[in-house]
Amino acid sequence: MGNTSTDPVVKRCLARHDVDLDDHDPRETFGWEKDAARGAFEDEIAIVSDLQKRLFAEERTALLVVLQAMDAGGKDGTIRSVLTGVNPAGVDVNSFGVPSDEERKHDYLWRVHAHAPERGLIGIFNRSHYEDVLVVRVKGLVPQKVWKKRYSHIRDFERMLGDEGTHIVKIFLNVSSAEQRERLQDRVDDPDERWKFRLGDLDDRALWEDYMKAFRDAMRETTTDDAPWYVVPADRKWVRNLVVAKILHHHLEAIDPRYPPAEEGLEGVVVP
Ligand code: ADP
Repeated sequence: MGNTSTDPVVKRCLARHDVDLDDHDPRETFGWEKDAARGAFEDEIAIVSDLQKRLFAEERTALLVVLQAMDAGGKDGTIRSVLTGVNPAGVDVNSFGVPSDEERKHDYLWRVHAHAPERGLIGIFNRSHYEDVLVVRVKGLVPQKVWKKRYSHIRDFERMLGDEGTHIVKIFLNVSSAEQRERLQDRVDDPDERWKFRLGDLDDRALWEDYMKAFRDAMRETTTDDAPWYVVPADRKWVRNLVVAKILHHHLEAIDPRYPPAEEGLEGVVVP
């Protein structure tokens, strides 16, 4: 399903099994102009919103969108922009931070499985089970022999979700190191944004190359036809938003949700 988009930009962003981040420019614009892109974005959102109504009414399948990025990569902004105009009752957003004491008592998929979207909903994972092969790998929180096995667990887990009616799309917001530096600096400098900044963000930034390797390997190991990864250029927010909207459009269209048939005999009924 994931490989069938006729949109050339969606196709270009699709991660292949040998994905190389050097082939994906975070500043890519696909030849778009900012003003025209705004109109295109609004058109895409209208389509996504219409398809979401059908998904919700049909209650047959769910769409799970996994969002991963470095700090300040734009996960929150993407959710805010792309889901504007979509009925909030049909969207289920979950964020996954450092596991709680309760979560640590279980396997790493336990907490995410509990939040997999119910049929009819678009579920958004703001961070996800991928942290368990990203931060956990880079910071050495478990031994290599433990995290290495997780790629195959994740493939199996996602296949099971797919078989049971959850379509999965995974998006890596590809922000450059230079852009991240600017955004983090802006957070420090702006009193209204400072709450978002943690000194620990600098530790992660210092490990940039290790994170890029971990992202690359996670995508290589787990991109499948039914649960594909996309690498979205994320330095320019207007490009990022339009690309993500196009990806959602493509996947919702592939699900092809339809309104349930109306009850027999409603033709001509007059409500008293
Ligand atoms: P965000 O940065 O997404 O806005 P937070 O500031 O709460 O949200 O950061 C969440 C933090 O939790 C990140 O540093 C992330 O690496 C960390 N985290 C998420 N999942 C795990 C995990 N399974 N193990 C360890 N750390 C994790």
